[in-house]
Amino acid sequence: MKKIESYLECVRCHKTYDIGELRYNCDCGGILDVKRDLSHVDGQELKALWDSRWGLKRGVEASGVWRYRELILDVPDSMVVTRQEGNTRLYPAMSAGTWAGLSNLYFKHEGENPTGSFKDRGMTCGTTAANLFNAKYVACASTGNTSASMASYAAVAGMKAVIFIPEGKIAYGKLAQALAYNGITLQIEGNFDDAMSLVQDVCKELGIYLLNSINPFRIEGQKAIGIETLQQMDWEVPDWFVIPGGNLGNSSALGKGMMELYELGIINKIPKIAVIQAAGANPLYTMWTQHTPFKAVKNPETIATAIKIGNPVSWEKSLRAVEWSGGTVEEVTEQEIMDAKAKLDAAGIGAEPASCCSLAGAKKLAEKGIIGKSEKVVGILTGNILKDPDAVIGYHQDTLMEHYGIKGTFANKPIQIKPTLEAVKAVLHR
Ligand SMILES: *Cc1c(COP(=O)(O)O)cnc(C)c1O
Ligand SMILES: [Zn+2]
Repeated sequence: MKKIESYLECVRCHKTYDIGELRYNCDCGGILDVKRDLSHVDGQELKALWDSRWGLKRGVEASGVWRYRELILDVPDSMVVTRQEGNTRLYPAMSAGTWAGLSNLYFKHEGENPTGSFKDRGMTCGTTAANLFNAKYVACASTGNTSASMASYAAVAGMKAVIFIPEGKIAYGKLAQALAYNGITLQIEGNFDDAMSLVQDVCKELGIYLLNSINPFRIEGQKAIGIETLQQMDWEVPDWFVIPGGNLGNSSALGKGMMELYELGIINKIPKIAVIQAAGANPLYTMWTQHTPFKAVKNPETIATAIKIGNPVSWEKSLRAVEWSGGTVEEVTEQEIMDAKAKLDAAGIGAEPASCCSLAGAKKLAEKGIIGKSEKVVGILTGNILKDPDAVIGYHQDTLMEHYGIKGTFANKPIQIKPTLEAVKAVLHR
């Protein structure tokens, strides 16, 4: 395989920069893409190479990201920071598919990554880039999963992690991980968007390497979610990908990966991408449905804290992915998210609230006739069921009404009984 030339390009004005230049924005303020010259690359040869790496037991290419290293980042093995991320399962939706009215629904479970979310795929690439830039400190603003992932990868790489989280607004499992992996955890007064703005200033001022998804190398790693899904399907392209949208990096990455596979002729059908937002944090949905310019949502609100973001940094890249693929943007209510979660969990699969936008959104799009009932659909489950136990218990104890207006429609309450055989029989015969 010949060397693939790469460079940075502004999504807004298309100005280019050297791949080795340390920057996150163009001079015009636009965000940057990693671009590659794929004109001389033989797609079939590349696909065969990736297939030959499937199931490797050890080494950098045993990772479900670095398996596709030709499209990730050109770097020697010795610089790679990896936890063998990726290699996540692809499940048939089973009873959750029936509930959604879709007969060919699958879930790619990114909650099965080393720290329990897809963020690990971006972080392996981001911390490897940090290594190339010789960074000693890395930082991020986070609704929780980015900080959990960054703290872990920084620890593996021997770097210091500086984490900015909105005070009192992140799920317990995620906060626990940031502390446990030894990140310097700064709880700030304000929401995610405030934290995001602060961390950009801090990184510029103190020369710390920024690892939010504004970092173009994070997006490169996250492309592997889509590529790995296709490889698991023997390169048969689904009709739809359905994916939650918060800061909109992941949908951007999914689209970019598909564009590159298409350019290489590895796929010759384009899967439609449906981005699903929470109704209380829906700037892309508003833009898409009302044909209005981008406008941030001032006070985003949702129980799905991973997507409680009003001013997503990657909206241009995400919109590009939706438009290129002929996809759509949908919104789902708090009740729809948690009912979908109850069904996904009860199917034995399970995921955190934000992830369940995939099922809630797929169901809604099927009801509207936008997704055909027998079309092949892959929902991305972004995070692990254990990340947010408060949301689970709240739903099943039916205590979410006051704060979130959510009913425990499919609540499975614990049943208190006396320690007797009769009491057990009474319950089981009920
Ligand atoms: C980060 C995250 C999202 C949102 O992804 P974006 O790239 O910010 O759109 C969704 N679900 C979970 C579980 C996440 O951790
Ligand atoms: Zn520009």
